[in-house]
Amino acid sequence: MQIPFLSLQSVTASHGDEINTAVARVVNSGWYLQGEENKRFEENYAKYIGTEFCIGCANGLDALIWIVRAYKELGVFNDRDEIIVPANTYIATILAITENNLKPVLVDPRFDTLEIDDSHIEDKITPKTKAIMIVHLYGRCAYTERIDAICKKYDLKLIEDNAQAHGCRYDDRRTGSLGDAAGHSFYPGKNLGALGDGGAVTTSDPQLAECVRALANYGSTKKYVFKYCGRNSRLDEIQAAVLDVKLKYLDEDNCKRQKIAEYYYEKINNPKIVLPKRMDDKNNVYHLFPVFCEKRDAFQQYLKENGIQTLIHYPIPPHKQECYKEWNRISLPITEKIHNQELTLPISPVMTREEAECVAKVINRY
Ligand SMILES: *Cc1c(COP(=O)(O)O)cnc(C)c1O
Repeated sequence: MQIPFLSLQSVTASHGDEINTAVARVVNSGWYLQGEENKRFEENYAKYIGTEFCIGCANGLDALIWIVRAYKELGVFNDRDEIIVPANTYIATILAITENNLKPVLVDPRFDTLEIDDSHIEDKITPKTKAIMIVHLYGRCAYTERIDAICKKYDLKLIEDNAQAHGCRYDDRRTGSLGDAAGHSFYPGKNLGALGDGGAVTTSDPQLAECVRALANYGSTKKYVFKYCGRNSRLDEIQAAVLDVKLKYLDEDNCKRQKIAEYYYEKINNPKIVLPKRMDDKNNVYHLFPVFCEKRDAFQQYLKENGIQTLIHYPIPPHKQECYKEWNRISLPITEKIHNQELTLPISPVMTREEAECVAKVINRY
């Protein structure tokens, strides 16, 4: 049996008729930007997440960039201020901070949860600290009461990178509504994925929402009136229409991911393979299913020879990248361990029970 890491073709086909109808509607409408499709999706997504506002933009990186930039425009952040972030995140989280001339302060995660270790945050706070950016990595909720308490104690903004956790919850609230603002990515492989690039900011702060909306549209607050030096970073009507279709099925699709994960947790029992700490289903929408193996590359090769395609998230941590040379000598042992041992198993709403069974069997034979 050949098991692909992720078949986007099958994911799209699972809602194919409705997606085709939506795309055709936009094509035939003659209106391709800033129209009814964006308006409808933004309203529905804000309602789904549980915020007052949703602002569509070009991609997830831009969503995070606009949040930080808007706080600068509003006088909350200044150049060289510090934002605390998990060191094991995808590079985009960090880029959004450095792009705005602020300083990311990297904090190691816990190895069992893979999320920022909230017991190490307070040591990193300085008079320059203005925010904590949490990342719901792999679909796991990273929010904790302690992080919230630290934000309140030191008057910090809480920004969420929700690129990997659409639909995830903490108690009854969705990730993306837990902090002051959140960036979302609709990159095709994400839980809520477009047929191209897309992103959004959610917030319940009207001033921030207005500023983000302007920044992503040339800095314009009114047609041909420019308050900020913005950029062109809009979500197009076709993507908004596709996302609005897929949003209706997001909870159902996440449940299908949770079923595969449940199966992996029950069946994988090879002592050489470490699974991350299991969370309640409402706190994990399983964007990815990471496992850990000391001899990761050999394990990946073995799975490949047995027809199972896997990926590494991520092979090189941000602080070891060439673009951040100044941090290359910093030691972040947990982050480095994760990057050396991580391997992501196939998981998706279109994966079958037989495929998951095959993955577990092959792993147990290793
Ligand atoms: C995908 C991703 C982003 C960036 O989203 P794009 O839409 O690809 O720009 C940001 N943060 C994390 C954690 C991501 O996984």
